[in-house]
Amino acid sequence: SKLSRKNAALLYQPQWQDEHRKKLEMIQSLRSAIDRNELFLAYQPKYDLASLAINGVEALARWQSKEFGWVSPAVFIPLAEENGLIDDLGLFVLKQACKDCKHWLEKGYDIPVSVNLSAAQLSSGMLPEHVFGILAASGLSPQYLELEITESMLMQDQQAIDSQIETLNEKGISFAIDDFGTGYSNLHYLSRFKAATLKIDQSFVRQLDESADNYSLKNYSLVKGIVVLAKTLGLTTVAEGVEDKNTLNTLRAINCDSAQGYFLSKPVTLEDFYVALQNQDSE
Ligand code: C2E
Ligand code: CA
Ligand code: CA
Ligand code: CA
Repeated sequence: SKLSRKNAALLYQPQWQDEHRKKLEMIQSLRSAIDRNELFLAYQPKYDLASLAINGVEALARWQSKEFGWVSPAVFIPLAEENGLIDDLGLFVLKQACKDCKHWLEKGYDIPVSVNLSAAQLSSGMLPEHVFGILAASGLSPQYLELEITESMLMQDQQAIDSQIETLNEKGISFAIDDFGTGYSNLHYLSRFKAATLKIDQSFVRQLDESADNYSLKNYSLVKGIVVLAKTLGLTTVAEGVEDKNTLNTLRAINCDSAQGYFLSKPVTLEDFYVALQNQDSE
């Protein structure tokens, strides 16, 4: 019968072929995800460590797929990057984040939005034009937009990337170096920015407890060192991945500027972000 032939064919297929087919189907599905309203944004607040007030928020892409269910950005972002979909996806994220930010500013919440960039979004040379277009369309002032980039994007040291960053920076858009400390150790690129934020990678922030084992002590020294270095260079620091109160207190003690993490807030829906803003208003 047709069914048993199909089963036999499946049995003969090596594992990698199944996975390959699934991947192809996922790419196909991702291609139409924006049009089908399957992509949306989650928002993770950033907190000022002195006052514990919300002082920023990071937009994080989410994909609720009809075929595949909830797919992690750790899966679909690389997939989009490898298959020429990241430009469209990146523009969708920028548009939505700027629109949402404009909306909360109008409600009286003076909070900038941070958007993650992929290296590929800098390769066409069109990023400044796209960003300025999106800002104009949404009516958002450039100082309310921060772009998160990684060290490796800066280390490519291409004239084209430099000039785009400079163009954006000159118009008032700020930059954060994401996953700081996990890339290259050449810090020369930091001088290219008028103002920038270092987002200290979660791997250093976890188990920061000063009094604990050798590993934690090393992390403590590293984070403290990064904060001092940043202060010297006139940069601000955000610690990522704060998961407990001890870590939060340690970060406050070493004068890190801001923090983000599950202990403070997980990424939430736009609706719940408004709830968080309202709650701190009424405190
Ligand atoms: P990222 O930019 O480093 O974002 C931080 C990730 O850590 C997020 O994962 C966030 O949910 C998670 N996180 C935050 N606090 C904690 C914590 O306390 N503990 C732990 N264990 N995790 C925490 P998410 O949302 O799964 O995103 C993963 C990565 O996907 C992001 O890492 C970013 O590189 C990429 N990504 C997400 N959205 C976009 C986007 O719109 N564009 C681009 N280019 N990349 C994106
Ligand atoms: Ca980020
Ligand atoms: Ca990060
Ligand atoms: Ca990351």
